Amino acid sequence: MKTLLLAEWIAPMNRPPLHQAGVVFDESRILAVAPANTLRQQHPDATLIDAGAAIILPGLINAHTHLELSDCTRLCPPPDSFVQWLKDVISRTTQDPANLASSVQHAISTATAQCLRFGVTTVADISRQCHLTRPLLRQSPLRVVSYGEVQAMAERRDLLEPRLATAIDRTHASDRLRVALSPHAPYSIEATGYRRCLQLAKNHHLPLATHLAETPDEATFLANHTGPFRDLWDFLHAWDDRVPTFPAGPIRFAQSLGLLDHPTLLAHVNYCDDDELAILAASQASVVYCPRTHAYFNHPPHRWRDMLARGINVAVGTDSAASSPDLNLVDDLRLLHRLAPDLSPETLWQMATLRAARALDQHQSLGSITPGKAPDFALFPVATRDPLREVLETHRLLPAQLWIAGQPVYPPP
Ligand SMILES: [Zn+2]
Repeated sequence: MKTLLLAEWIAPMNRPPLHQAGVVFDESRILAVAPANTLRQQHPDATLIDAGAAIILPGLINAHTHLELSDCTRLCPPPDSFVQWLKDVISRTTQDPANLASSVQHAISTATAQCLRFGVTTVADISRQCHLTRPLLRQSPLRVVSYGEVQAMAERRDLLEPRLATAIDRTHASDRLRVALSPHAPYSIEATGYRRCLQLAKNHHLPLATHLAETPDEATFLANHTGPFRDLWDFLHAWDDRVPTFPAGPIRFAQSLGLLDHPTLLAHVNYCDDDELAILAASQASVVYCPRTHAYFNHPPHRWRDMLARGINVAVGTDSAASSPDLNLVDDLRLLHRLAPDLSPETLWQMATLRAARALDQHQSLGSITPGKAPDFALFPVATRDPLREVLETHRLLPAQLWIAGQPVYPPP
């Protein structure tokens, strides 16, 4: 069945917005994008829906979150340090195994409702409990790149292979749920584990993500196993001295492992000097900046604009509810618009669409309104002739409609 969706504006993202235009699609793909009159003439058999005073955007892509933490809401004021925050999240989410499945189910339900309300159609979800989250997410309308998270260091080194097996298990994969892999961070998985993940990602064509350079303590820990991350291992009573050191910081660590010769998604990269910026610019990796989470931890200004200027692919994510007020990705774009009012609104929207799709290695099928790509759309009500700016400057404005795979999912049919 063909649908013709028209609106005052459409913003395909790979070209400038079109006025009084629309998109024709079926359940699997976009067929045409053009002015309204052209589409009416060429597709008289399509079911016509005129959204009126709205802008049609590609479905938004949250390039970094942890949906299973959606009930672990953030503490205000924030804990004194990142490691104190981590300890707090660990203690709040470690529970009786008998309750785990039901609490994960509730968190995923909370998360899914938020994504759909905020215009997000695709999520890069990092999941430690992927054996529980994948069957739940498969039932939701969302598209999910489900990165099974792997931690394996020190006395927990031997957990590498069983955790990898769970992470790459494709039992619950579907045309909307893609299995992917995430070695967690340089303070929780050793070089051997990272190399194994990279090899599996290449062999099985799995998107790959890791947390990198999130705090300056990562470099200290890598160099000599001291500082707050070592305190965390002592707190867990799981340290041993066979963990190798690395002297030159997390970005060169990732480079040494081959992660930067691959389209790896690097979450955060909050700490990056000019030489490291040049390394990233020569790499195939993408950076995901999580603006409201970054602000919560009070990091120094993120170098996302320097990254964009150097040609690095930068996308936006919310990170989890444990550090972000909610999963409203547009509010992250609104913060960026306030931080960089001179930057074009279209560049910001691309960070939640085209650039995000590339960060997830999904740009062949997602991220722009282009014939052949998936028919996922978010429609926002607008009234001005600068609609991309208007949505960013209208506090709390929410989508009027959301479509995934050619079907309306919001408002509920
Ligand atoms: Zn994260």
